[in-house]
Amino acid sequence: MSRYIGPVCRLCRREGIKLMLKGPRCDSAKCPMEKQWRSNPPGMHAWRRGKGSGYSLRLREKQKVKRYYGLFETQFIRYFRLAERSKENTGTALLQILERRLDNVVCKSGLAPSRKSGRVMIKDGHVYVNGRCVDRPGHLLRQGDVVGVKPSDRSKKLAKTNLELTEGRSPQPWLQVDAEKMQVTVIAMPARDDVQIPVEEQLIVEMCSR
Ligand code: SF4
Repeated sequence: MSRYIGPVCRLCRREGIKLMLKGPRCDSAKCPMEKQWRSNPPGMHAWRRGKGSGYSLRLREKQKVKRYYGLFETQFIRYFRLAERSKENTGTALLQILERRLDNVVCKSGLAPSRKSGRVMIKDGHVYVNGRCVDRPGHLLRQGDVVGVKPSDRSKKLAKTNLELTEGRSPQPWLQVDAEKMQVTVIAMPARDDVQIPVEEQLIVEMCSR
């Protein structure tokens, strides 16, 4: 499967927000978004660009979400079609589905420092869901699911290091983390307010519904 291998901080600069793609480095002073001279959009003539058209505003919102969750266009559209079939507001349903991805839960609970390293952990078979190995980062979790690590010394050591690294991370109200057992329980479905990036989902719906 293809993946983005370019510089990731450039993506944050393009979207103008911290997408938190590099784990602990994102919270440190080394983050380019903390430095005024580096937080401008990438490219030689970025400062010359105008405010942008309605299309570009909608496109930026979509790209922001895709980059935050590490998705490509085909995957994103698949989630959008799923959200369209939901009884809820399409934009809210889309964000809730994306929050329920296994790599996102592994990252937000602190078992992995970033979504990218969470995906590697999952693909390498270190992550279990309800006692069974799940190697698909896009696996959608449901209420009551329990995420844990493989009962091997290597997996436990990796998860322990990651939990120590991400200790100060703000807890998610819909996830119950047991650091001792290295287990995460999905106690509720994520609410709209649990999405941590500023995004106007209505613009995404307008863009993708065409
Ligand atoms: Fe780079 Fe993380 Fe800062 Fe984004 S938030 S610019 S990925 S260090």
